[in-house]
Amino acid sequence: DYLGRQEALRAEKERLEVYRGKETVDAEGRRFGLYANIGSPAEAAAAAEAGAEGIGLFRTEFLFMDRTSLPSEVEQYEAYLAVSRAMAGKEVIIRTLDVGGDKAIDYLGMEKEENPFLGHRAIRYCLDRPDLYKVQLRALLRAGAEGRNIKIMLPLVTSLEEVRTARGLLEKCKAELESEGLPYDKDMALGVMVETPAAALIADLLAQECDFFSIGTNDLTQYTMAVDRGNAKVEKLYTTFHPAVLRSIRSVIAAGRAAGIPVGMCGEAAADPRLIPLLLSWGLSEFSVSASAVLATRAQIHRWRAEEARQVAQEAMGLSTAAGVEGYLSSAVKG
Ligand code: PEP
Ligand code: MG
Repeated sequence: DYLGRQEALRAEKERLEVYRGKETVDAEGRRFGLYANIGSPAEAAAAAEAGAEGIGLFRTEFLFMDRTSLPSEVEQYEAYLAVSRAMAGKEVIIRTLDVGGDKAIDYLGMEKEENPFLGHRAIRYCLDRPDLYKVQLRALLRAGAEGRNIKIMLPLVTSLEEVRTARGLLEKCKAELESEGLPYDKDMALGVMVETPAAALIADLLAQECDFFSIGTNDLTQYTMAVDRGNAKVEKLYTTFHPAVLRSIRSVIAAGRAAGIPVGMCGEAAADPRLIPLLLSWGLSEFSVSASAVLATRAQIHRWRAEEARQVAQEAMGLSTAAGVEGYLSSAVKG
């Protein structure tokens, strides 16, 4: 049985090879971005090799884990510069430290919390530790000086104040670098990861004060459905096909488009072939998936005509249960 599956996987990989180096376009030539998610500079090379057109999410917390002290500004600068160089001429979206929740960093001495996923984590923690956060922001600004292809993304945003405070710190870092005579990217874009219901519901307001969105469906699903993404007992409830999650995604894309900013998706849902017609017809700018899913996602995007995708999206959004939507999309997606 396993040998059979291995052969099927090999054949599928071979079939997908024709998409390597091709543009990511739908059946009518409409272009979409296809980026990769990475957790280390080494993975950037693998992403480029896999045909990714950029990095849609660099999870920087992995630079902070498996060690006993904070990485210095220079260490971080070198890591971000390595990714910028590996992707020269292509966009690199780097998410600032997303600590807490399921990602513990022992040496930070963070207090144990009753509800860590709802607690002092990610942007909340970083804004309360400007000493630590500024080191990362300075490293990012400096690393962007050479290739001008780095963009900063804020995790777990729930309010405009968080974006404003982060932007204030970024401006402070720029002023410091200016007075120290160190080169940095003066125009570095600042974007918001939309992964909480609060951010999704105020997407129109956030879009006025940031340069791009990326929808984090892993957490957006968790928080919208009020279901712990790591708890097997409730895993049936954890589904992106729930109309609440899909409506949320649709309205975030619409808000970004209305404000004229790009909207990407870097959660696992971006690589689900069943959701592709919806995301295409709603006007997602870029799909960011694991390096191993790049070619398969490109192949799926190639299959769809705009009108066909629109009809499938309309039908799916007319259904009222997650099971109904998932069943319909599973049969609508072509093999
Ligand atoms: C997400 O929440 O969708 C996401 C991409 O980030 P992470 O999985 O790292 O929380
Ligand atoms: Mg997340």
